[in-house]
Amino acid sequence: MKLLRLGDQGSAVAEVRAALTYLGFLPATPRQSGEQGVAPPPGAHPEDSTGAEPPAAVALAAPATADGAHSPVAGPAGGAGDAPAALPDRFDRDLDNALRAFQQSRGLSVDGILGPDTARALEEARHNLGDRLLYFSAAHPFVGDDVAALQERLFNMGFDIGRTDGIFGPRTESAVCDFQRNRGLDPDGRCGPRTLRELKRLRRTVTGGRPDVLRESVRLLARGTSLLGVVVALDPGHGGDDLGIVSGGLCERDLMADLATRLTTRLLDSGLESHLIHGPDESLSEEERAARANELEADLLISLHTEGSTSPHAQGVSAYYYGNARGSSAVGERFAQLVQREIVSRTDMLDCRTHPKVWDLLRRTRMPTVRLDLGYLTNEHDARALGSTDFRAAVAEAVLAATQRLFLPPEMDAPTGQLHVPRLAGRA
Ligand SMILES: [Zn+2]
Repeated sequence: MKLLRLGDQGSAVAEVRAALTYLGFLPATPRQSGEQGVAPPPGAHPEDSTGAEPPAAVALAAPATADGAHSPVAGPAGGAGDAPAALPDRFDRDLDNALRAFQQSRGLSVDGILGPDTARALEEARHNLGDRLLYFSAAHPFVGDDVAALQERLFNMGFDIGRTDGIFGPRTESAVCDFQRNRGLDPDGRCGPRTLRELKRLRRTVTGGRPDVLRESVRLLARGTSLLGVVVALDPGHGGDDLGIVSGGLCERDLMADLATRLTTRLLDSGLESHLIHGPDESLSEEERAARANELEADLLISLHTEGSTSPHAQGVSAYYYGNARGSSAVGERFAQLVQREIVSRTDMLDCRTHPKVWDLLRRTRMPTVRLDLGYLTNEHDARALGSTDFRAAVAEAVLAATQRLFLPPEMDAPTGQLHVPRLAGRA
């Protein structure tokens, strides 16, 4: 898709404006009241259309001109009022601010650019629980805020939904079945009007504690103190034709492939099981990467990247784990913190800290997943580090140490440095 940003113009911009207005990130201006800029929330007849697209929550504010974009009078605000009205199809400063606020609220990268992640989040945000019939479809899973709301309600009543990721998967289906059985309804796993009514009737909020997060930790603890059999999946961030960031003769794809190889060797040496989820010639989507890690039934996935910026001053290392305002992966967060601490203490890289994100790779994996951005190839200092094998070896050691710590209970955790895994494992 074409990225949209400040300064762009066209009907696609008008759609974004309408969506953000609908979601409350932009004020609905009375000046546009005569136009169909903002549609009312869709009507609720969920049983009518099984799985079909819900009625569009946002209408086009302006019809596209014949050749698409650049007619300056394409917008409907042309003759309205005397103040310099914002052109709906113009990506102006207000829209930029609104989009950033939306991105922030969703745990997305706050860059003011409408790319695939943000577009999908906007699409998902339009769905309110009750707008459509929800059920499990392996081919085209329902994704959206309505699914997240359903998961949240089930979860608050103690049903096992895994985590509130907004994706209607098999686990959500079986939680719906459990709920239906519990309430004497036909357990078909479909969330239609009857099930919704029952859910509303029983709505009660459980405060304190997050069972989904606890479950994740319990699974980890169930491993005891043995590191044997722990499966660590590694994802070199790029491959094939996809070079990632290229700058000053360095290429992200190759640097991360080298790091992944070093790291997998170190993990294997230390008694852990380790797999690369793809070869150097494969260029996979985030969804495909997540599927590979899920197939492996890995206990942990680590995705390796470098960063790039138009500013030569941007530098530093950061770690990302699954999470947003609704909650986060407790184990992912802990591992992100551990690995960030180990890297920063072993190198002279700037600490850009850890952050929750809802990126597809983080969200579609069933195991704790952390993405590492190991410095900016566009920064002189970071590029020098990344280009050196010593640095990459140090990062491999840091990730190994953090992985060991993650799978050991806190009382066995030494403050820094490496642990001898086989010895500890033998004691379990
Ligand atoms: Zn990358």
